[in-house]
Amino acid sequence: MTASLFTNVHVIDGTGKAPFAAEVLVKGNRIAEIARAPKSIKAPDATIIDGGGATLMPGLTDAHAHLSFLNAASLLDLTKLTAEAHVLETVKVARLLLDHGYTSMFSGSSARLHTDIAIRDAINAGDIPGPRLLAATQQMTVTGGFGDLGREGVFASIMLDGPDAFRDACRTAARAGVDIFKIVPSAPGSGPDPLAEDTAMTDAEVAAVCEVARQRHRRVAAHARSAEAVKMCARHGVDMIYHATLADDEAKDMLEADKDRVFIAPAMGLPYARLRDADSYGVPTDDFTRARATKEIETVSVNMAELRERGVRVLPGGDYGFKWNPHGKNARDLSMFVECFGFTPLQAIQSATEWGGQLMSPGLGLGDELGQVREGYLADLLLVDGDPSQEIDILQDRDRFLAIMKDGVFHKAPPSDPIAQQQAAE
Ligand SMILES: [Zn+2]
Repeated sequence: MTASLFTNVHVIDGTGKAPFAAEVLVKGNRIAEIARAPKSIKAPDATIIDGGGATLMPGLTDAHAHLSFLNAASLLDLTKLTAEAHVLETVKVARLLLDHGYTSMFSGSSARLHTDIAIRDAINAGDIPGPRLLAATQQMTVTGGFGDLGREGVFASIMLDGPDAFRDACRTAARAGVDIFKIVPSAPGSGPDPLAEDTAMTDAEVAAVCEVARQRHRRVAAHARSAEAVKMCARHGVDMIYHATLADDEAKDMLEADKDRVFIAPAMGLPYARLRDADSYGVPTDDFTRARATKEIETVSVNMAELRERGVRVLPGGDYGFKWNPHGKNARDLSMFVECFGFTPLQAIQSATEWGGQLMSPGLGLGDELGQVREGYLADLLLVDGDPSQEIDILQDRDRFLAIMKDGVFHKAPPSDPIAQQQAAE
């Protein structure tokens, strides 16, 4: 069995606790032993990795990933791609995300039914590098729901009407091998309020999806912005609620009552980048879109801070994969959690690691063994040049990852002497 001993590292274990100096031994694909300084570990057969004071932390999880969106300006642009070219491009994204320290991705929808599945299976077989991936369906909505892009040549959304249609689509997707059914219960509203939001799916439709999910041991993720859509998801047992933009007190009470089961990901990457970066990507932003993004960030910031206080697990994952919000920027979500939602850096890291592990584990067939630097846990580890508990932004810089390990194997091998290499580069 291969063994690696990290010495001279500061461990951020992912639980929100302060970093501590330690040595960490990895054997096979597990963290075998952790010794807090001044204790040390005797492992004569292990390869020693002298961290030179760098930080060792769990790999990151993105809770709302779209690997197959390929940084398109619009999902309609993807219709120009053949399925074959689409898969090949998505292979590159899978590698890029692991290069950026993401060892787990929970898909927020696949552009085509089989794309996430094929990428997941190739990663698991060791054929291509990439994060642990839970594969989703395309976004399933109703006629007129958010994501209704019309039916002509469109594959990134499917329009279904009535519980039988949803049941049929979910059974077909389960047979194909997806892990996650992605639904879109809400739709943009009308009127002067830029955040106005309607509820598009019915209780019976959401219930049908959740029923098939329970029977087939799949997860349900939902794009739910209206208060009623959030409550509908909570009522029927949706596992991951995205956005939750207009969650009212009743919705928050329901989420709090179910906090040991449900996860929330506000997915603010798109509006955040819309206000800051869209121009530089040549994506025009009209006044309405700007007003909507501004109000959305304000509203969601208040709601997410409150949900965190109530003990609900709020996770990063911000719809990366669009032209102005490209893949690889994903860790900007952690900075946003600190800047907008009042998380401390350690809390933001906890949400992307410990809670990310809790989100992923059931779909991976795992117990409590992912997302922490803890004895017995799977060795998904990042060796970071610097201390992200002081400077959360450094997680956005892939060059700060001195080493990236997934399942006990280095995706990015450590330099033989991290500090010497660092100094040489300066
Ligand atoms: Zn999304």
